[in-house]
Amino acid sequence: MALSFDLTPEQEELKRLVRQFAVDKVAPRAQDMNARSEFPVDLVQQMGKLGLFGLPFPEEYGGSGGTFLDLCLAIEEIGRVDQSLGITLEAGVGLGAAPVWEFGTEEQKRRYLPELASGQKLAGFGLTEPGGGSDAGGLRTTAKREGDHWVINGSKQFITNVGTDISEFVTITAVTNVPPSSGATKAVPEVTNFIVPTGTPGYTIGKGYRKVGWHASDTRDLYFEDVRVPAENQLGEEGRGFANFLKILDGGRIAISALAVGSIQGCIDECLRYAHEREAFGKPIGSYQTIAFKIADMQVQVELARHAYYYAAWLMMNGKPFKRAASTAKLYSSEAAVTAAREACQIFGGYGFTTEYPVGRFYQDAKILEIGEGTSEVQRMLIARDLGLPN
Ligand SMILES: Cc1cc2nc3c(=O)[nH]c(=O)nc-3n(C[C@H](O)[C@H](O)[C@H](O)COP(=O)(O)OP(=O)(O)OC[C@H]3O[C@@H](n4cnc5c(N)ncnc54)[C@H](O)[C@@H]3O)c2cc1C
Repeated sequence: MALSFDLTPEQEELKRLVRQFAVDKVAPRAQDMNARSEFPVDLVQQMGKLGLFGLPFPEEYGGSGGTFLDLCLAIEEIGRVDQSLGITLEAGVGLGAAPVWEFGTEEQKRRYLPELASGQKLAGFGLTEPGGGSDAGGLRTTAKREGDHWVINGSKQFITNVGTDISEFVTITAVTNVPPSSGATKAVPEVTNFIVPTGTPGYTIGKGYRKVGWHASDTRDLYFEDVRVPAENQLGEEGRGFANFLKILDGGRIAISALAVGSIQGCIDECLRYAHEREAFGKPIGSYQTIAFKIADMQVQVELARHAYYYAAWLMMNGKPFKRAASTAKLYSSEAAVTAAREACQIFGGYGFTTEYPVGRFYQDAKILEIGEGTSEVQRMLIARDLGLPN
């Protein structure tokens, strides 16, 4: 049979292990760490010890020797309990370590991957700038070659995992065909990626944002003022930096879809329990069709969204074209997560608007899923373009 929906026994075991960790260690602290905007270094490092940050990397680089789908399964299960910790894992592996794995030299892989795969250190992915989010090609950050160094100037915005106590470096995009005299970029910017270690002189990490959700995850602005990095910190080929980072985002979208599925599943878990417990007019609210149908709709959404990301991951892992499937999964599941979280709050009535139950937190956290790693509008543009519609 060519078509199979079975996870392997190892994948079922991975899901069970991560679920157990999330329920035992994360759930009791989730409300509090979000209320206090606390980044839980200890939980991140415990996840590292479980091998979650090394899931898609080979053992010789400190990884767990698993697959990209394994990573997505883990993100879903962590995200089912706490979305902040889910994005920390997603960004840590899918954005932080992935560029080194995909484009790094052998030496860079051996130097950086083991510490990232073990979860003892984190790296960020610096693409977005104040003038270039969806239009990521509108970047202004530059890097000029001076002897055996590159000198970087510019800034980045909204970067995840760069300002924690265990943040080791950020990979960035910078324009490298800068005319020596003017400092202005040429008409067609040539973009290259660089590894900028935390603590490099001239590299400043801004204060964390006050966000609507994802309170326990780390998001910062970055500033580069005559930051000198050695030539060996160039990541990938000169001039390939933009295409390389966009490639990373293709996989990232599948992982964000898994995170969104975790959110919907988390809402269903909570709503099923509450619909049995809470009584109104002498009956459990789950016996009213209006409530039951809301939960049935969430179940439809979670199944479709899960299949969408499994399929996109399967295409990717089998070397087939997967960009449209990744956008489809990200678009559908993030919008479904917002709808499901809104309905979950409705099911909880007044408690849905408090921090007493997790559904309010899921509601706050869901919105960013429609924005990060390409907005819903950008996903629709990519799908339309893939269908051959005029650009
Ligand atoms: C919590 C958080 C974490 C993040 N983490 C990272 C990270 O680790 N690394 C990183 O590089 N970035 C990160 N980002 C940035 C994120 O990817 C961007 O915010 C996102 O891509 C949107 O870019 P923007 O904010 O500049 O919005 P804009 O691009 O200014 O978009 C504004 C609006 O215009 C729409 N729009 C833009 N262009 C078009 C168009 N051509 N057609 C139709 N509509 C359009 C958009 O869809 C959106 O609705 C993060 C953001 C947040 C909030």
